[in-house]
Amino acid sequence: MERYWNEEIECMPREDMKKLQDERLVAQVKHVYENVKYYHDLMDEKGVKPEDIKSTDDLHKLPFLTKADLREAYPYGLLAKPLSECVRIQSTSGTTGKRVVAFYTQHDIDLWENCCARAITAAGGTDEDVCQVCYGYGLFTGGPGLNGGSHKVGCLTLPMSSGNTERQITFMRDLGSTILCCTPSYAAYIGETLHDMGYTTDDIKLKAGIFGAEPWTEEMRHSIEKSLGIKAYDIYGLTETSGPGVSFECSEQTGMHINEDHFIPEIINPDTGEVLPEGEVGELVFTSITKEAFPLLRYRTRDLCVLSRKKCSCGRTLIKMSKPMGRSDDMLIIRGVNVFPSQIETVLIEQGYSPNYLIEVDRMNNTDTLDISIEMNPTQADSAGEDIQMYEKTLASSIKTMLGISPKVHLVNPKSIARSEGKAVRVIDKRKLHD
Ligand code: ADP
Ligand code: ZN
Repeated sequence: MERYWNEEIECMPREDMKKLQDERLVAQVKHVYENVKYYHDLMDEKGVKPEDIKSTDDLHKLPFLTKADLREAYPYGLLAKPLSECVRIQSTSGTTGKRVVAFYTQHDIDLWENCCARAITAAGGTDEDVCQVCYGYGLFTGGPGLNGGSHKVGCLTLPMSSGNTERQITFMRDLGSTILCCTPSYAAYIGETLHDMGYTTDDIKLKAGIFGAEPWTEEMRHSIEKSLGIKAYDIYGLTETSGPGVSFECSEQTGMHINEDHFIPEIINPDTGEVLPEGEVGELVFTSITKEAFPLLRYRTRDLCVLSRKKCSCGRTLIKMSKPMGRSDDMLIIRGVNVFPSQIETVLIEQGYSPNYLIEVDRMNNTDTLDISIEMNPTQADSAGEDIQMYEKTLASSIKTMLGISPKVHLVNPKSIARSEGKAVRVIDKRKLHD
């Protein structure tokens, strides 16, 4: 039977949810206009007054906010509450440039942790569970968010943080952890280490994993599920909107339910800013309607995905977003073709390779080059022998079919590609070094 953390909200009829969003949006716009000079100026520039926003139907009238705005307003420029009411700061991982800081009142922390509690409950978590959190703790939101959610649910919480992978497995075995929270790339590494230590899934009690903070493919999901003997659930979020838990997967596993009582999503055309109808791929934009200290209106995430209101078998009525295929700025343009690392990952895992790979892009004689190093597992390495070139050719041709451009494929020795304990680095774009 499906369990909910907050059934009334998670299964609320659409009309009631819209009413709740309308009320909250109107109040939020007023709050930021009155308390944040940066917004006041942005809205004045666009000629919008708080009175013009009467419901979510007027959302499109508000200006967008971008990461560049956050950097310009760094550190305190977007703060909407006096510092005396703020109790926490978290910061982005800085994957794509200068870090951004976000502020929380106690109310903001509570709502964030409740969002994470919804995710843990949707993954089957209860107060009977032992929840091992191996997202990084500290400024990164992964550890603190899931830690807080796990407490709310009443799980016995193991605040491991990332790293020291053998110790992770020792604790997992000794304490009988049933839920694992970390990045998918770290989950894959933990699975690999478990088997390297001579254990199998029979030696652990894990039943579910809650993995997010980076893009991962369905193929990667199956590979982790197999190596850890669990059901793997996706979770999404970003520091700017509080952290993980903005959306989460349910038992149906066909996209993540967005916590719409706190975050209103829109999909826009990233080039024109035009709002796109449900079902079209575009950039995800969020308006946080309940956060007090750092309430972003129409924040452009740069994550590309699709929204769907299709009825979900779990009973939740919250809208769903597809797995983000990557950020608009993760997309590589190689010889004029758009390439997402996830497309390459799909081919590799489908063909029985490990999710340990590195994509290197460079430019030689004015032509882009694409080199992909892929690790063999020990069995593959033992049996490849003289046929290695043939395997490389087969892989190169499958990747060419997927992408439309030819890569150079290098099969490399087991354990020769660095493992990730947090967000994996899969791409080195050397062209940027020349520019
Ligand atoms: P940074 O932008 O520095 O990485 P964050 O730690 O706040 O800072 O990361 C948020 C970003 O991580 C999101 O915008 C998104 O690109 C990515 N992300 C988070 N969860 C997922 C997920 N489940 N699937 C794909 N990407 C994700
Ligand atoms: Zn569902």
